[in-house]
Amino acid sequence: MPNTFHNFFHTIFSLIYPSYCNLCGDELHDGEKLVCRGCWSGLKRWGRQSIGMDIPQHERFVSHLRVAFEFDERLQQIIHLLKYDRRRIVARELGRLLANEALVKEELASVDFIVPIPLHPRKLRERGYNQSQLVAQEFARVVGIPVGKNLVKRQRYTQTQTQLSAEERKVNVDGAFRVMLKDKVKGKSILLVDDVLTTGATLNACARELVLNGAREVRGLAIAHPPIEGSKETN
Ligand SMILES: [Zn+2]
Repeated sequence: MPNTFHNFFHTIFSLIYPSYCNLCGDELHDGEKLVCRGCWSGLKRWGRQSIGMDIPQHERFVSHLRVAFEFDERLQQIIHLLKYDRRRIVARELGRLLANEALVKEELASVDFIVPIPLHPRKLRERGYNQSQLVAQEFARVVGIPVGKNLVKRQRYTQTQTQLSAEERKVNVDGAFRVMLKDKVKGKSILLVDDVLTTGATLNACARELVLNGAREVRGLAIAHPPIEGSKETN
C-alpha cells in the first residue's frame, strides 16, 4: 500500500477511533504514540544516587555504573509494552530518554562500543525479543556510537534470577558469557546496557569476560533499578 494512501486511512481511522495512553488511559494527542507525554515525563529519574553492586570491590569489572530510572509500576508497564508489535516506538523513546538523562557527554566521549547484555539464543527464541537490545540500539543511534554486534555471546542458559540470593545470582551467571570477537574488544572502552539492574551480577559477569579479553574499561548503564530505601548518597 503506498504510504500516502496508508496515512490517509490511518488519519481517518484515528479520527473515528482515537487512541488512548496504554498507561493512564487518557486520549493521545498530536504526535503521541502508545504512551502520553505526561506518563513519559512522570518516570522517576535516578539522578546521581549511587547504587551498590552486591559484589566485593576486587571482583568488580564495571568501572562506572549509571542508572536512568527508578523501577516503579509505570516503568514496569513501559518495559512490558516492549513486548508488542509497536515496540520500536517505546524503544525509541526510552533510548532517547537514556541519552538525555543517564549519561553526561564526557562519560560517553571515550566509549568505542555500546553492547546490550545478550540473551541466550534459547531465551531469545522463547521471548522473541531482547528488550535491552531494542533500547540500546536506539540509545546508540541517538548518541552516535556503534553497537558492538556479536562481540559477546551468552553461552549458558541461566535460570531466572528473581528468586535467588546475591551469592546464588553470582554463581548462576559465572561463565555465562563468552567474548566472540577478541580482536575487536582489545583496548576498547565498552558500555554495557542492561534493563533492570538488581545485584549487578549479570552485568558484572559480562564485564568480567570483556576485561579478561583485553577491554580497556567496561562501563555499565541500566534502564532501571528498584528504589533503595533510605539511601540518598551521591557520587
Ligand atoms: Zn498517560
